[in-house]
Amino acid sequence: MTLLQLDGYDLVNTTEQDHDYHLHVTVERPTTICRHCYASEIVGFGRREQVVKDLPRLGKRTAIYVETRRWRCKSCGKTFFDRLPHVDERRQMTDRLVQWIGQEAVSRTFASIAGEIGVTEGTVRQVFSDYVQRRYAQLDFVTPRWLGIDEIYLIKPRCVMTNVEELTALDILENRNKKTVIARLSEMDRSRVELVTIDMWRPYRDAARIALRDAQVVIDKFHVVRMLNAACETVRKSLRSSLTKHQRRGLVNDRFLILKRERDLTDKDRMMLDGWLLNYPALAAAYETKEAGYRIYEAASSADAAERYAIWKASVPHEMRGAFGDFQRAWENWGDEILAYFDHRITNAYTESLNNLIRTTNRIGRGYSFEALRAKILLSENGHKIVRPKFQRIRSPDVMERRAFEPEPNLGVDLSTLAEILGKDEIDPDQL
Ligand SMILES: [Zn+2]
Repeated sequence: MTLLQLDGYDLVNTTEQDHDYHLHVTVERPTTICRHCYASEIVGFGRREQVVKDLPRLGKRTAIYVETRRWRCKSCGKTFFDRLPHVDERRQMTDRLVQWIGQEAVSRTFASIAGEIGVTEGTVRQVFSDYVQRRYAQLDFVTPRWLGIDEIYLIKPRCVMTNVEELTALDILENRNKKTVIARLSEMDRSRVELVTIDMWRPYRDAARIALRDAQVVIDKFHVVRMLNAACETVRKSLRSSLTKHQRRGLVNDRFLILKRERDLTDKDRMMLDGWLLNYPALAAAYETKEAGYRIYEAASSADAAERYAIWKASVPHEMRGAFGDFQRAWENWGDEILAYFDHRITNAYTESLNNLIRTTNRIGRGYSFEALRAKILLSENGHKIVRPKFQRIRSPDVMERRAFEPEPNLGVDLSTLAEILGKDEIDPDQL
């Protein structure tokens, strides 16, 4: 088998070391005309060896050494070297390596790729940057019907946009200012957007009202109910100061019980929690107020929800008003958009999960520029991802042929029964 697999070159010799392959080659068809004026009278004018990086082979870095001739044109007097087919001469890499780096860098760190092929991280970054520009040009970011807007903190808060219906990433913006968001929304096919789900960040609502006049803004449900848990935490923490060390430790360990929904409690949970709630009336009040707040979200319609909220508000004990103040203010400031959820039922759950992915990507690739991180996310999560099918073993044709003439071995038990006994998915008769 040939190690080179590159048209236009002849392999002269190969040196293999612990970590590297060195392939010495010559150009198959040397130049016959001048690269400047296309005249055909050229004379040899020396030689040089060029080193070109190639795809890693069998886990080793690979360098191709090309013995290149230098020519001088008799007509124009200029000199030039042989042209190297399939090589990016500016980068001293094969075209296929350049392409591979771009694809790999979408999901891997620059450092790991640099190490695998034996170039600097800076080189990988530059190749990736060119690759990204080419890919952006090919991508077609369809305006979503349901747009998700959220933020993520990467050195500073950035705005994240998603297609909530298709579950794809749309964009990550430099910041989350109203002006920036409006500018990005204005690039969209604006009449297509029907719903926009956001958290309670005013500039998003303002931007949506200005740029997407026909769209309904919906406040993400989780950002609202999260405030109920935060209120419970406030009450629990303020209780702490009045407790003994022993009691305090117990309450820290059991905090998850207070945050758990009542319907999710096990019998044991229930017993533990009842103990706390009996001893601490403030905690009991907080727990009940939280549960009542969650029950608003069991409403069947926006009218039902509005009614449930009014009942909830009236039921909050006086001493709980402070702790649950954020939740109440959210309803007062964002009532229409919170209620819109009950008519449209969309959430930003996908955007939140994308944020987790962005955080992970950012963490493993410490030192990515914002642009590199954005590219990695958009190229892997924009719905155009390259998904490789699961690896499937194939049989070589002669084995198939041989099998056709051989009777199945008679084992006295059929293979599927045997597989079941052995706890395997399948038994390969060749292995018996
Ligand atoms: Zn010439």
